Amino acid sequence: MSSNSNKRRRANDPESYRSKNDKKPRTPSPTEWTDIGKTPSPTGSEALAMINALTLSSPDRPSLRKISPVPYLLTTDPLIQVLGLERLNKDGYINLDSVSKPDPGFGYGKHTTPAVAYRTYKKTNTIDADGEQDVAVEEDSYIHPIFFRDRWETQELASSSSPYWEELKPVWQLATLLLEEKVMSGYIMGMLDRSSHTEIKTRFDGHAVHWFQCKERPSKQELWLLWEDLWDLKNCIKWSALEITEERHRGVSGTTKVDRSVSGLSKHGVGSKIVINENVLSILCGRINASDFSKPWSPGTDNPSARLRLQWSLATTMVHELMHALWLARHGTTSIEPFFRDTRFSELGWQWETLIYGGAIAPTSDRCEQPYGLQIQNWPGGITHVRYPTLQNVGPEPPKIIELFPVEMSWVADFFKQSFWDFVERYGRPGIVCPVPAEGVPFTY
Ligand SMILES: [Zn+2]
Repeated sequence: MSSNSNKRRRANDPESYRSKNDKKPRTPSPTEWTDIGKTPSPTGSEALAMINALTLSSPDRPSLRKISPVPYLLTTDPLIQVLGLERLNKDGYINLDSVSKPDPGFGYGKHTTPAVAYRTYKKTNTIDADGEQDVAVEEDSYIHPIFFRDRWETQELASSSSPYWEELKPVWQLATLLLEEKVMSGYIMGMLDRSSHTEIKTRFDGHAVHWFQCKERPSKQELWLLWEDLWDLKNCIKWSALEITEERHRGVSGTTKVDRSVSGLSKHGVGSKIVINENVLSILCGRINASDFSKPWSPGTDNPSARLRLQWSLATTMVHELMHALWLARHGTTSIEPFFRDTRFSELGWQWETLIYGGAIAPTSDRCEQPYGLQIQNWPGGITHVRYPTLQNVGPEPPKIIELFPVEMSWVADFFKQSFWDFVERYGRPGIVCPVPAEGVPFTY
């Protein structure tokens, strides 16, 4: 297995991790929680302080663990080998010259969206179901409740006496925009509507396998049902930290685990716990720096740039995992995730990412702390050992060459600007896809 085969480890499947050293697929081992308790709602600041103290070591409100960063550099990473860190940086792929604050209300600057109209309606009962009213978007509507602090188990993000959830509002806001972006709604609707799926002549572990396509031009009523599913999904999931206790966790930015103690959106549906790499959360909560994970290089990892990159990346990871959680909540664990059109692997998160960004984006040097920037490739690219259904063995053996492209940091920064979303509003998906140089770095796997 090549060094590149583990580049894209967000969650490769809903229930287990994949190790870069795996020689064969792992046996699924659904993880279940049976003793999740509710933390009582505080009624005043004194009660809040007391509850926070009481719950600090509570199993359902765990704090982030203390991390001892280990600097790492994958010298065999093709971008590092061929271009080198200094050139990657000089060409704008690692550090920004300066990092500006996110535009206030980015993505919501000029208009309301049907999704926001729905959420406003749920909260206030003041907007009718067609969502046509041209109302200003209130700040408290920027963020979908699925990202609210009450969905978090990690103390630093769950506690209202802690500043981090508030500080990371741009992440939740970006995740909301990605989740509700109208160019992707057809993907989610097509994925959920199993009656529109087509069976293909292959089986996976004895299960039927299907493919789906985007719902084209969904009606307002159909969109309204999607917003309802996403609204209800907030009750089916929890966010928590992925404790990195094994080497194979280091490249996992997040994963979705089945939580049978929580019901899903249908009779067969199940809840999920989505865990996010604890190092990423620790950096974003200011405990450690991304540069603590880099080997010495010139000029070195700029922490504000790395932090912005991680904010973008966390928003992407969360929505990626929500695709899995949504599938589990609606269709349970016995239905295999479908293929999107003619993609080679049926993995709803990666298929979503590939569609919205034009490829699969992962850290250069393969660690989630991302001290050396990001790279993009066609998905599934060099990924060869997976647990989800694959079609890549169908047909003649392809040449095992892929191209890797570095990701411009200015593009990452643009997601936090209103002008970016104005462009997306006008041009749709082409406004989002990741720009790449004419030539990438070829890599044989
Ligand atoms: Zn995934």
